[in-house]
Amino acid sequence: MSTALVLFRRDLRLSDHAALTAACAEHARVLPVYVHHPDEESPWRPGAASDWWLHRSLEALRGQLAAQGGDLHVVRGDTLEQVRALVDATGATAIHWSRRHEPAGIARDTALKAALRQDGLEVHSHAGNLWNEPWTLATDAGQPYRVFTPFWRKQRAQLPDTAPLPAARAREWVRLPGSLPIAALELLPTIRWDAGLGDTWTPGEAGSRELLEIFADDAISDYAKGRDLPARHGTSRLSPHLHFGEITPRQIRHALQARFTNADARHRADIEPYLRELGWREFAHHLLYHFPQTPEANFNPRFDAFRWAPADDALLARWQQGRTGIPLVDAGMRELWHTGWMHNRVRMVVASFLTKNLRQHWHHGARWFWDTLVDADLANNTLGWQWVAGCGADAAPYFRVFNPYLQAAKFDPDAAYIKRWLPELAPLPAKTLHEAWRHPSALAARGYPAPMVDLGASRDAALAAWSALTAE
Ligand code: FAD
Repeated sequence: MSTALVLFRRDLRLSDHAALTAACAEHARVLPVYVHHPDEESPWRPGAASDWWLHRSLEALRGQLAAQGGDLHVVRGDTLEQVRALVDATGATAIHWSRRHEPAGIARDTALKAALRQDGLEVHSHAGNLWNEPWTLATDAGQPYRVFTPFWRKQRAQLPDTAPLPAARAREWVRLPGSLPIAALELLPTIRWDAGLGDTWTPGEAGSRELLEIFADDAISDYAKGRDLPARHGTSRLSPHLHFGEITPRQIRHALQARFTNADARHRADIEPYLRELGWREFAHHLLYHFPQTPEANFNPRFDAFRWAPADDALLARWQQGRTGIPLVDAGMRELWHTGWMHNRVRMVVASFLTKNLRQHWHHGARWFWDTLVDADLANNTLGWQWVAGCGADAAPYFRVFNPYLQAAKFDPDAAYIKRWLPELAPLPAKTLHEAWRHPSALAARGYPAPMVDLGASRDAALAAWSALTAE
């Protein structure tokens, strides 16, 4: 009776799980394992909001396994030492896991694989959370892609059509003494700021299915337009579930296509813009895999000479706390603080405000998002910040400075989003909020701060810094 270990990391699900499926097919006994060692993720140790999600997601996975008579065996410490101890305890001959694509994950897994193979064990890494592994797509010249449109054209044409794998079930789940309660991992904050997260999210595989159902029932049919309106639930909100591998892009596509099989062509076409966004996620992972320095380094090295303003903690604190005096920016930052998530359109606006109007280095924003987003993802966050800051692959040009008032008037015309997150401004008419600079006393009377910068003058300063860079 052979035994295998399956290491769970960012693949906290039982279905469409190639590593688990292979272990269950090839071995009579399977031990599902979670090894907690966040220092192995350094320098991008997960932030506080990610830790909150992880706690809940591990609980959910443990519950799913318990329902089948198994357990998620939870340990903490150096992964190699822990795996070796579990091999000794179970007599396992094989270890399976889903691949990671962040630089620290690749380095750790490469060393782990070599050491375990030297111990005489079988080690199998499997594709996990992407449609295509990052090295399987290349330009005609055999190079990694740097521009999204040709990347997507190639990928869209060869999206794998295979159906998702059904939930895996071992012939016998191994249970061992010594498994830690999830609480022992100390993932939850000691000062409980997380009530808003709990009200907003249901981490785990079942929670992801529920969100997909809600999205497929309604928002998908107007996604191309609705995705830009932050007051609406016009997007899927699946990003944290995708990040933690509670659902796969293959499952999402399959579910949407199955639902619209008999629908008219217009409905089937509605799926395309959504698949394209999932394509951005694949592109982000492709870039991070091929350019692993980019969470720290400008993708475009020309930006190394850019004259950022000196880091200013007071400015950053006002941005982080949603007290900039610019309603759309503050609404976004408060949504982030309360729910651990922010609408994509507003992410672009707050990032533009930080990197252009305040001219603070994009690193400061990326680090704040890293700590506060439940969907904080090294590939997507790096792409997002470098895109807005203008220094990324296929980025918005630096001179494209979002005007938060115009963005609000266009995408939040009734100011419903602003009023939801800035209740102190709710009694004011939308027009007043979209032209707040004309009505300083109306906003001040409600205890709302004056704008921390003049948008026009700060835009001009940003463009001057950009001109200096391009003249060099
Ligand atoms: P939907 O519109 O429903 O899209 C479906 C999925 O496609 C998303 O869940 C996500 O996985 C992917 N996706 C959508 N847009 C993008 C995009 N622009 N880039 C990459 N993938 C995308 N996304 C993260 O998942 N983690 C991050 O840390 C992150 N940081 C960002 C930082 C900045 C400055 C910006 C501008 C964007 C960032 N994004 C990040 C991308 C995007 O904002 C979120 O993926 C999206 O808002 C998630 O909401 P949703 O699941 O409802 O998206």
